[in-house]
Amino acid sequence: MSAQLIDGVKTAEKVRSQVKEEVAKWVAAGHTAPGLATVLVGENPASQVYVRSKQKACAEVGMESFGFNLPATATQTEVEDLVRQLNADPKVNGILVQLPLPAGLDEEKVLREIAIEKDVDGFHPLNIGRLAQKGRDPLFIPCTPYGCMVLLEEAGVKLSGAKAVVLGRSNIVGMPVALLLIRADATVTVCHSRTKDLAAVVREADVLVAAIGKPEMVRGDWVKPGAVVIDVGINRVDDASKAKGYRLVGDVAFDEVKEVAAWITPVPGGVGPMTIAMLLKNTFRAAQIAAGQ
Ligand code: NDP
Repeated sequence: MSAQLIDGVKTAEKVRSQVKEEVAKWVAAGHTAPGLATVLVGENPASQVYVRSKQKACAEVGMESFGFNLPATATQTEVEDLVRQLNADPKVNGILVQLPLPAGLDEEKVLREIAIEKDVDGFHPLNIGRLAQKGRDPLFIPCTPYGCMVLLEEAGVKLSGAKAVVLGRSNIVGMPVALLLIRADATVTVCHSRTKDLAAVVREADVLVAAIGKPEMVRGDWVKPGAVVIDVGINRVDDASKAKGYRLVGDVAFDEVKEVAAWITPVPGGVGPMTIAMLLKNTFRAAQIAAGQ
């Protein structure tokens, strides 16, 4: 059996063009274009690339972006003051603090300062708390987990009553994905570095979401035939045949697992492209919230 691919590039493009249309209508109705502020502290090259691609994505859908760069020597108070200033700025609908922050800064405290109605990354403890509670809704869903759910929907996966296994319990991926799957009425098992006999737990899964950051750890014989596999992992492995000297692989051994699963996301081209698309969607939502809609 060879699994069907869940195409993140195509799905992300669909989300982006929906957002672009909504933004055009919004502006035509007399509103100012939604605005995203990015906060970059220090000179981490990967973070610089991520921030630039988020700014470019904003421009492509007709949104404003405002870049704020602070030196690696910025103090906790300086970073928090900037966030508070952005909270008060009506042109800014969404605030994105690029993580990780340089050593010595308390990320949790910075994230807590972001006004909940501008928390387009969805990392504010209030948003996560609401995600975890029955009968409450977060204002924003964290972007990568949101992207995983849209991909599952795109593949037409029935989650109600399905056995879902999530590998990883991080604040940004594993835990919010698990909470979203519970909200979708799946029966969810969350695994982590202390889980015993991981392969046996994974074999139970109708739906598997892997977010552990371990290259190709999930093997073909771990996966239940016909399962749906969402691979969040992005890992660099050495590859002398590539110009860059490396290639990207997921947490799932794609070539083995695609022979067993019914649906699978590739890496790259699966969950990765969804993250920025969902950030754009959240930023548009933030503009609606600011306008009382
Ligand atoms: P973290 O390092 O924050 O969390 C990893 C999680 O995996 C932890 O809960 C850890 O357990 C668990 N884990 C680690 N090793 C094992 C193991 N051997 N067996 C079982 N569980 C294990 O990673 P992130 O959640 O930030 O990211 C996970 C992956 O997703 C990475 O490859 C990252 O690059 C990728 N990613 C992709 C994004 C995208 O846009 N597609 C966005 C964000 C991340 P414990 O809690 O016990 O330590």
